[in-house]
Amino acid sequence: MYFPQLRRLGSHNINPLTINMLDSWLAVQRRAVLKNLSPIRFSLQSNVDTELAIDMFSLSSESSIGVLKAIFKPICPYCSGQNGHYGSLDEVPDVKIECRHCGDFFVPSSRLDLIEIVFERCLEPEQPLIDQNARGQNNNHGGNRGNGESLRASDIINRPNNARRHLLSKLDSRYEAAQ
Ligand SMILES: [Zn+2]
Repeated sequence: MYFPQLRRLGSHNINPLTINMLDSWLAVQRRAVLKNLSPIRFSLQSNVDTELAIDMFSLSSESSIGVLKAIFKPICPYCSGQNGHYGSLDEVPDVKIECRHCGDFFVPSSRLDLIEIVFERCLEPEQPLIDQNARGQNNNHGGNRGNGESLRASDIINRPNNARRHLLSKLDSRYEAAQ
């Protein structure tokens, strides 16, 4: 495997074939997209169920596996411009900020549907890539903001489970208290 730590996904009832698909997919990603990986793009390109793909990315970003890191990116409701990136949902500002693109004001934490979650690959493959050119051709998609490949914090809140809980950090308890 390129990322042997991913074997630990097996303890979450994820089968070895699917784990290998994620392993190879992560290994062949172009350097330019390594901080902008989307579980939905992995799902589309590898024909893995979207919900399972989100679970796998989330679990892989927990410290016990540590292959990925979640990044939270607030998007301006007026111009769709991206405004900064944060290591957890707790760090997303809950006060008004001025959009760096259009100058309008908004509260980033108030719109979970406008907080994109992407993942950064933190590790290098532990072995050389096989047939990198042939497989790399599938990875020519650009950014994923504002289209169908974009995962939002609201998607996690709407369909929470144990695999994703850590992405919600303190918001999880606030959300449950509000129910
Ligand atoms: Zn804006």
